[in-house]
Order: sequence, then C-alpha cells, then structure tokens
Amino acid sequence: MIYFDNAATTAMSEAALDALMEVSRNQYGNPSSVYGFGRKSKDLLEQSRKIIAGCIGAEPEEIFFTSCGTESDNWVIRQIGSVWNSAITTAVEHHAILYPAEEKAAEGYNIRFLTVDENCMVSEDALQNALTGAPELVSVMLQNNEVGAIQDIKRLAKIVHERNEKSLFHTDAVQAIGHIPVNVKDLGIDMLSASAHKFNGPKGIGFLYIRKGCNLKAFILGGGQEKKMRSGTENVASIYSMAKALEDNVNNMGTVHEHVYKLEKYFIALLKREGIQFRINGNSDNRATGILNIAFENLDGEGLLNMLDMHDICISIGSACNSKSQDRSHVLQAMGLSESHIDSSVRISIGRFNTEKDVETMVKWITKYRDITILADS
Ligand code: PLP
Repeated sequence: MIYFDNAATTAMSEAALDALMEVSRNQYGNPSSVYGFGRKSKDLLEQSRKIIAGCIGAEPEEIFFTSCGTESDNWVIRQIGSVWNSAITTAVEHHAILYPAEEKAAEGYNIRFLTVDENCMVSEDALQNALTGAPELVSVMLQNNEVGAIQDIKRLAKIVHERNEKSLFHTDAVQAIGHIPVNVKDLGIDMLSASAHKFNGPKGIGFLYIRKGCNLKAFILGGGQEKKMRSGTENVASIYSMAKALEDNVNNMGTVHEHVYKLEKYFIALLKREGIQFRINGNSDNRATGILNIAFENLDGEGLLNMLDMHDICISIGSACNSKSQDRSHVLQAMGLSESHIDSSVRISIGRFNTEKDVETMVKWITKYRDITILADS
C-alpha cells in the first residue's frame, strides 16, 4: 500500500505509538482519582499540556483537550449567540466550521462568509469591509486542507483586533500544527484548533487553545474536567501520545520538510518527463509543501483515484470527508475553478514516511491512466 493522502490522516510516529502503548498498558488510572495511581495519570495529563503548550508558544493552562479537530471547531462556533451575536468566517473552511456556522446563520445570527481569490487567499479588504465594529468572532483557517493555501493569520488577526479589541480571532490550524512553525503569541490569535491524527498522533484526540482572558463557555457539562470547560474522563493515553507526536514532529520539522519538499519536486519532475499535462491548483508562494491539488488535463480525477486504488495507492478528490459525496469541492468552487477543471483535479498529499520509490510507482500508474484515456478517446 502506498499512502499519498496525508492531509486526510497520517501514520502514527514511533514516538506516538510508544507513548500510547506505554500509558494504555501501565497507566490506566483515572486522573480524577485521589490515590497515587490516579495522581500519576493526572501528572501525565499536565506533562502533556506543558509539552503541547511549549510547541505552540502557549501557556499550559491555555490548552484544553478535546476529542478531535471537529469538536474544537464546534466548541468555538457554537459560542455564537452566547458570547458574540455576529461572526465572520470564510467559504473555504472545513465543514467542522462551515456547518455549525450555517446552523447559526439559520438561527438568525449575522454570519458572513468571505470569498477567496483563485489562489484560495482571503482578502484583507474584504475582511475590513465585513467587520461590523461590534465585538465579534472571526474564524479563518491557517492552512487549507484541500489546496494547502496558508493564510496570513497574523495580519488578519491584527485587522480584527484593531477594529475592536474585544473581538476574538480563531484559527483552525488542524492542517498546520506539527508541519509548519506555529506560535500563538506571535500570530496574535485568541483560539486555535488542532487534531493529533494530522501530525502522526492517534485519532480521536485534539485540543483547543484558548488564550487566557477569553471568556468562552463550557462545551460539555458533567464531571468538571478541563477546569469545568470540557467534562468527560480524559483519554490520558491518547493525550500523552498526542503530546509526544507533536514534540517529535516539531523536533524533526526541518528534516521532514526538506524530505517532503524533495519528493514533491521529484514528483513534478517525473510528471514533466512523462509529458503529462497538469496544473497545480493554488499558488505555490503560499502553499503548504506536500499538499498538491492537481488538475490533470483531459483526465477524470475520480477515474484516476479508482485506478490508483486498484493498485493500492491512496489519494483523494476533494477533502476526505466528502470523498464519498457527489458534490464538487466547495473549496475549488470558491476559487472560481470551472466544473471540468474541478472534475480533473485530485489531491495528492505527501508525508514524512513516503519514499522516492512511492513517487515513481504513482507516476507510473498516472502515466498508464493517461495512456489508456488517450487510447479510449482515439
Ligand atoms: N479542520 C481541518 C482543516 C481539517 O482538515 C479537518 C480534518 O480533515 C478537521 C478540521 C477535522 O478534524 P478531525 O478529523 O480531527 O475531526
């Protein structure tokens, strides 16, 4: 099996696997229990919080554990109506933001969805014009999951805070954390969502950074865990594994980036050598290394995906979450791409465990698919 869908999820790193196994096997105590065995679990939780905070420039008490990126995003958006009455987000967010935001709009709250240009970039002017001047929520993703576009979050957050210092800025950094340097203080943001399975950690665990002083309401009520903000017995093994995964990715970021960059260049060089006509959707100046949304001229994206699948190679069309639906990608549509262009597009996302051999095998089958298509058309 060759895995080129690293924006959908990632293989766990050895550091994350070791941590998960070790804690699951030996440290299963409930962190809320008062005896020593429980207190040890609590220590692991706080150690994890410290590691994660250190990786993103936050304070440990600003990290709240959640079950995934979707939960972190929902926590923020579902505050509309209690913390703020209006909000701004973008048309290219993940559905974990878009759907709760649409729900809030349907309830009558003033929600604006900013459009993007052909490179998936949000315009600063559009944001300026959309701000009402009242305290509100603005949520813009750091790195897009379909085309890898990286927004200038620092600049956007500054615009929002200058307009009204009580407005809060949230970023969905699910695709960015563990892959590019992120420092919440430097970005000047108030909230940030992350998910472990996107940075070689386990599935079903994530976190929400909430800057000290932001008065968010509790998301899940019950036993009072996470300072009464998110009740539920903590998944200590996954939390510790997430912390170790993030630490490992951050420590190896330079080398992994170089590796992925080389594979990306190699892939593009091989496509050119085979005379395959393609266009990368989005602009490489602001695109995450390793996320390639590519339109192959005169080829059907879904057909290519199926052909590669027959040879045990995993890629995707649109985002992982809507790969089974008939809908065209809302991101590519917002970028103004034509239907035929979208239909010939696939997402190939390269990760730290891919090899040159993987790239060669994939290009071999893409070439075969191109040849078969030409033959069928002639
Ligand atoms: N936000 C972005 C940008 C994503 O790419 C994803 C997952 O694809 C999510 C949120 C949801 O994260 P999770 O799978 O942890 O719920």
